[in-house]
Amino acid sequence: MGKFKAIDIDLQTDKMVAKLRAIIKHTKALADELEVIDKDACPKCSGALDIQTLFADDTIIQKVFTCEKCGWHFGLYLGGK
Ligand SMILES: [Zn+2]
Repeated sequence: MGKFKAIDIDLQTDKMVAKLRAIIKHTKALADELEVIDKDACPKCSGALDIQTLFADDTIIQKVFTCEKCGWHFGLYLGGK
């Protein structure tokens, strides 16, 4: 074993790492969902997806994808109040 050096724990860095991990986790999940949407197929059974688009004041606020075969659904929130 080499020399032992004390390790300083910076709590703010810890928080930043935790935040980055959360971002990575959600970004990956979102990327997976978007891939599904691009393919227009259910991730569970590869069935066809029914897409409902919700508007508010001519602005798309949400798209809801529902599998016609197994009922899997996913809501993509796009904006609005
Ligand atoms: Zn399905």
